[in-house]
Amino acid sequence: MEVIRTREAFREAMVEARAAGRGVGFVPTLGFLHDGHRSLMARAREEADLVAVSIFVNPLQFGPAEDVAAYPRDLDRDLGICEKEGVDAVFAPDADEMYPGGPPEVTVDPGPVGNRLEGASRPGHFRGVSTVVAKLLGIVGPCRAYFGEKDAQQLFIVLRMVRDLDLPAEIVGCPTVRERDGLALSSRNTYLSAEERRAATCLYEALARAAWLVEGGERDARVLRAELARRIGAEPLAALDYVAVVDEDTFEEVDRLRGPARALVAARVGPARLIDNLLLRPSD
Ligand code: AMP
Repeated sequence: MEVIRTREAFREAMVEARAAGRGVGFVPTLGFLHDGHRSLMARAREEADLVAVSIFVNPLQFGPAEDVAAYPRDLDRDLGICEKEGVDAVFAPDADEMYPGGPPEVTVDPGPVGNRLEGASRPGHFRGVSTVVAKLLGIVGPCRAYFGEKDAQQLFIVLRMVRDLDLPAEIVGCPTVRERDGLALSSRNTYLSAEERRAATCLYEALARAAWLVEGGERDARVLRAELARRIGAEPLAALDYVAVVDEDTFEEVDRLRGPARALVAARVGPARLIDNLLLRPSD
């Protein structure tokens, strides 16, 4: 496995791979890898000849109130995980390599969906995400790129960006990997105490309850949102940020379920801000 530190060397490695007829599978991450990331690498391993992973804590997607320096990092451990997953190349640049001369002057506007939900709670977050993903895809070149449904709004915006800007990547969405009790795997779960870890299951429990209500015939999204908020609100260690039920194709909030919709929740549990979501499929 090759560990690459510069954009130039990473670009060259990807160009060489394609010249040799090898299709590139690319998994961008912030590092501190877990089984969610591993599922993306495994999918890429199945579908591509060469698997590349990037590990970069992108300062651009953290707000001024968020501590980018405190984001968990362990490159040695991450490299061990990549090696085990059969990754061919890891791109691990530092911030100066990615943004020589400081933050970029030209950035990618994530569109109207970028200002809602996560974007409303974390102003500038999706501009930072869109910009770094566009940059990474620019360096990698034509590839399949793998993203988790765990960050459904991010996946939606990346799909839109690639479509609207004609970027030469095929974006592949991958299902959320969960702990046995339903908690979605996240690097941020490491911030939780044992008690907070137990409380954090309220996000998935609320989503599962909403899916259960939909299975039972509930189609009123206001009832679903109220139930999501009530469930998370009942957990004393959780501070609710938002609940939403959006159309799967537009990410617009809906009043009634007339097709596939996605329930999304965000809450702070102790020091960690957690997000989760679940697809709601009305049977009619
Ligand atoms: P991150 O390092 O948190 O930016 O995540 C890198 C990629 O892994 C993103 O596409 C995430 O959506 C995805 N990811 C994170 N957690 C999970 C999970 N529990 N299941 C599946 N994919 C995930």
